[in-house]
Amino acid sequence: MGDLEYKCRRCGNVVSSQRYISDRFCPHCGTFLSPRDRLRHWMFQFNSAMYAWFDWIKENMETEQWLTSRYARRICTGDKVVIWASGEKAGVYAIGEIVTNPTKRPLNAEQEKYWTNKEDILKFLEKPSVIIKYSKVVIDRPLLEDVCSKDPVLSDMAVLMQPQGTNFQLSNAQWHRILELIDSARPRG
Ligand SMILES: [Zn+2]
Repeated sequence: MGDLEYKCRRCGNVVSSQRYISDRFCPHCGTFLSPRDRLRHWMFQFNSAMYAWFDWIKENMETEQWLTSRYARRICTGDKVVIWASGEKAGVYAIGEIVTNPTKRPLNAEQEKYWTNKEDILKFLEKPSVIIKYSKVVIDRPLLEDVCSKDPVLSDMAVLMQPQGTNFQLSNAQWHRILELIDSARPRG
């Protein structure tokens, strides 16, 4: 598949499948390369009782720091992310791209005040986090949970099956279906 890339587990170097066909070893360090999907898709979830995301996003629509408690070894710059709100109006509220690889770093000062509990801020010292750059914020036309759970492609999304946690995998098909539904939606009201 042309979609596939190969990654060196030792130095992180990524090569194309064309390059891999001619040489199966990392051009930097000589380690045997492993396959890696070019683009991965994730869903990151927040709980608005714990984090005032809706307030944050109104004031800062560009980038945001997110915990990667799960999948930190697989989440990578260039991966796409869908932002999901849990709770009463659960659903998709934004789309973005990961612009830094997961690393441990303190939560940035601007975001701190949006968290309800200080313990949650300290999690950024214990777990890796990434920066997301938003490409679409759809707070005026969210893709709500009731639509997702009736959709043949989205009804088995991880966030609907086992809703605990921040980071969820999203299949290629689910990612494309979400984009399709968001692009066809009209602003409410
Ligand atoms: Zn290497």
